[in-house]
Amino acid sequence: MTIAAHTLYLAAPRGFCAGVDRAIDIVDMALQVYGAPIYVRHEIVHNRHVVDALRAKGAIFTDDLADVPRGAVVIFSAHGVSPGVRAEAAARGLKALDATCPLVTKVHLEALRYARDGFTIVLIGHRNHVEVQGTMGEAPDSTVVVETAADVEALTLEDPSRVAYISQTTLSVDDVRAIVEALKRKFPAIREPAKADICYATQNRQDAVKELSRRCKVILVVGAPTSSNANRLVEVAAQHGARAYLIEAAEDIRREWIVGDVGITAGASTPEDVVQACVARVRALGNYRVEEFRLVEERVMFPLPGELLAGAKAKGVAFAAGNERAAARASAEPGVRQPGAARAPRAGSGAGPAQPAAEPAAEFRIRHH
Ligand code: SF4
Repeated sequence: MTIAAHTLYLAAPRGFCAGVDRAIDIVDMALQVYGAPIYVRHEIVHNRHVVDALRAKGAIFTDDLADVPRGAVVIFSAHGVSPGVRAEAAARGLKALDATCPLVTKVHLEALRYARDGFTIVLIGHRNHVEVQGTMGEAPDSTVVVETAADVEALTLEDPSRVAYISQTTLSVDDVRAIVEALKRKFPAIREPAKADICYATQNRQDAVKELSRRCKVILVVGAPTSSNANRLVEVAAQHGARAYLIEAAEDIRREWIVGDVGITAGASTPEDVVQACVARVRALGNYRVEEFRLVEERVMFPLPGELLAGAKAKGVAFAAGNERAAARASAEPGVRQPGAARAPRAGSGAGPAQPAAEPAAEFRIRHH
């Protein structure tokens, strides 16, 4: 019997988060309920494996709503969109389904509230990232974007006593902390979100990779170059002393990297089968035993949009058990259209408002972080 020379630590939690799971389910289910093609504005999540698999099923990805034929179904990605995009979809007569992660929606709602109350909003994030562009669109005249503490030093605001900050959900926890400290020094009265905007999945994956970097000289982060949270995992691992590599697939792993104990983690949009292929590749390159390195349990689930669930129920399309109550509620909701039916079943008399494309903020069920 050969004794394994080194350990391959598999970080947990890793890979898909609840927002990504939900976004992929929405496209999958929409294809079954409404039939192909289904249009998706922007990559549904930043991962080519996911995008290619959905494309093969009949999803068409585009960054421009002008490419979408009138009356077609369009899905907004997990990163969220600005109100301008929603208005454009409505003006083109598109049937819009919203796969925006509820934790991104939370940040949009904060922006709206601060703008309504007359605050200047400092949005911490990467100005070219699609999530930041969507959030910025909620209150463009009241929002400034900062990417670094140096940007904060250069900021001049008309009324420094009425300032609030919000942030992109997938940034480095440590980088944001430094920027927030700079903001608090410069604007002592600054308002901050009641609960941090960096999401649980980003935080948990960064916490796990920090610990892993203490054990391994080499960290492989499986994720797309366009994925913000995967790139942040690489930075965090490097800041904690590991040699960190971003890889999209098993074939990207180079033989010369694999030395001593190795850690593997994955960004929130990376499918588990791609991670497992990377594990197999490392084991093919060296004598490794695999050990899970789990920091925390994640049991988070976001319900699917009520309208889609009602359609799935009407068509007999299966959906995960966790969505059953949301489906029952949606079916009873006045104004929810079901495929093939003039109107949805009604709970009472009167037409009532149309069901929003996504569950309202009050409905988020975060079971456990
Ligand atoms: S990374 Fe966070 S904000 Fe982004 S989809 Fe996942 S849970 Fe939502």
